[in-house]
Amino acid sequence: MVKKKILVTGGAGFLGSHLCEQLLREGNEVVCLDNYFTGQKQNVVHLLENPFFELIRHDVTMPFFIEVDEIYNLACPASPIHYQYNPIKTVKTSVMGAINMLGLAKRIKAKVLQASTSEVYGDPEIHPQTEDYWGHVNPIGPRSCYDEGKRVAETLFVNYHKQNNVRIKIIRIFNTYGPRMHPRDGRVVSNFIVQALNGEDITIYGDGSQTRSFCYVDDLLDGMIRLMNSREDFIGPVNIGNPGEFTMLELAELVLKLTGSRSKIVYLPLPADDPTQRQPNIELARKELGWEPAIPLEEGLKKTIDYFKAIV
Ligand code: NAD
Ligand code: UDP
Repeated sequence: MVKKKILVTGGAGFLGSHLCEQLLREGNEVVCLDNYFTGQKQNVVHLLENPFFELIRHDVTMPFFIEVDEIYNLACPASPIHYQYNPIKTVKTSVMGAINMLGLAKRIKAKVLQASTSEVYGDPEIHPQTEDYWGHVNPIGPRSCYDEGKRVAETLFVNYHKQNNVRIKIIRIFNTYGPRMHPRDGRVVSNFIVQALNGEDITIYGDGSQTRSFCYVDDLLDGMIRLMNSREDFIGPVNIGNPGEFTMLELAELVLKLTGSRSKIVYLPLPADDPTQRQPNIELARKELGWEPAIPLEEGLKKTIDYFKAIV
């Protein structure tokens, strides 16, 4: 296999660190760029001994110059509490980050992949979600800094492609979980596991009937790398996620069962604009990438619980 030089923005985060690891495993040179807002050096410290790995502190809202063959643009806080902490910065990260990475890709003729999200569908009226659904997003709600930022990033990607022939790929990631999620990241899988392991109350927001479809990190990365390597004229957007759909109450009960915890479930107010349902239609990924997830929720949760047992 040809060794490629690859830039991963947001490479010290949950998904980015696994991606750096996998790309190195495949024999590539990897440059990891991160400002450590939600990521941590700890996630990639074990890679620093590898001479084909480089770690750079940089913020994607500022231009960055490097010679690489491919760029995976993952830099952006992904958890609602973190992306709502400084909403203006979240928009800047998505939009200026996309402009900077697309400008770089244009100049050096690199291929560039955007980590987009199922949040572009907002609180969806079409279920399961197909890529041709335009979405149902509140442009002024608490999630809009993330949703609209990611939507503009998609707009920038397709227009750099049309106008400047930049080689692009857009992946729409559905809720992904696994080892290296930050224990206080605030996302539901990490929250429930940490609460169960510590014997704290399991916090369900709302009545727990809202649904999500959870994808294990290894499956997600397989889909992401397949997309980067897919035929030149397939640019996406393509949904990558596990169609297994669960209510938050079902998730809480499964976590309690798998941890053997005696934590009790408590109900807290549902945050504004929290999507009521979410499930990917993955026919396009099946057809174009020959991809489908292999790891069911229970199996992925067991691996994730083992990880958290060692750190909390
Ligand atoms: P994460 O928060 O663990 O990782 C994001 C990384 O980006 C962190 O290391 C953070 O420090 C870095 N970052 C944030 N702002 C930056 C900036 N301005 N400059 C440089 N680095 C910056 O989240 P994750 O789950 O690994 O998500 C990675 C990407 O995938 C994000 O773009 C996210 O929107 C997207 N995504 C993730 C999911 C999921 O379920 N995990 C779902 C949909 C989309
Ligand atoms: N959620 C919950 N308890 C928590 C954290 C989240 O019930 O401690 C709910 C949240 O309201 C949402 C779902 O779990 O309905 C998924 O939340 P997460 O923040 O993981 O992702 P997103 O809402 O962005 O899909």
